[in-house]
Amino acid sequence: MNKETREKLLDAFYAKCRESRLSVTPQRLAIYKTLIGNKEHPSPEMIFKDVQSQFPMISFATVYKTLETFEQNGIVSKVTHLHNTLRYDPMTEQHHHIVCKRCKKIIDIDSTEIETLKIPSQVTKDHIFIDYDVHFNVICAECKMKE
Ligand SMILES: [Zn+2]
Ligand SMILES: [Zn+2]
Repeated sequence: MNKETREKLLDAFYAKCRESRLSVTPQRLAIYKTLIGNKEHPSPEMIFKDVQSQFPMISFATVYKTLETFEQNGIVSKVTHLHNTLRYDPMTEQHHHIVCKRCKKIIDIDSTEIETLKIPSQVTKDHIFIDYDVHFNVICAECKMKE
């Protein structure tokens, strides 16, 4: 994620907090910044470890609850369907992922490179279609090196 994207997300964060009447506490800001500073769609545990270095008194429960609150207010999204582990994503707009089957790394794809999928009629016939996510399963470069 480049600097420009991070700044845009940070602006959106402040706007969404205002909309949802969530106060931007130093902890909340640190949790969000950790998320946008991490390219790998971190788990709550990973975020906790990072935030703890700035706020040694913060509890895992607080981090966990904050992430849930963010999700309920459309500030972050979950990528739970990819793995059994809970992972968070600062990008709430539709986008696609590359997933390493070994190390569970999740990488965002520049979606302009993906052609728009033709939505099957089975999807739209009886349902209200919302959106779709594509994930490409891979063995990542780092894992390949270890082979
Ligand atoms: Zn890997
Ligand atoms: Zn993502």
